[in-house]
Amino acid sequence: MLGQRNSYHCSGCGKALVTIDRAEGVTPFMMKCVITRGCAGYMHSSFYNPPPQLQAVEPCVEWYAPEQSERCGLGKFELQHVDNGGLLMRKLPNFEEEKKKAADLPAPKAPILKFPIPERKKEE
Ligand SMILES: [Zn+2]
Repeated sequence: MLGQRNSYHCSGCGKALVTIDRAEGVTPFMMKCVITRGCAGYMHSSFYNPPPQLQAVEPCVEWYAPEQSERCGLGKFELQHVDNGGLLMRKLPNFEEEKKKAADLPAPKAPILKFPIPERKKEE
């Protein structure tokens, strides 16, 4: 969603970052950690609802729609993602600085599911 802040929280290293959408498009709800080098954890989206601890943290990653000229440099999967309406991410100049501010959050135990989960029907 254009202009919207989102946050991603890693279940491995417990660190979080705030992102901003620079275009309309699809962003992943889960992806490999980009915060800590060598971290094998996955970062989970807050679904455009960053926790209060991240209110003072500035976005340090932006989601953008690549220009036509940029498409040539994309890998097969990136290109497929973009063709399906996906946005790409890139670090902003303040990445290192803002990343540190969000370093003390408790790690999420599991992805936060915001959609209703249907109940299993009782056996008759
Ligand atoms: Zn991590």
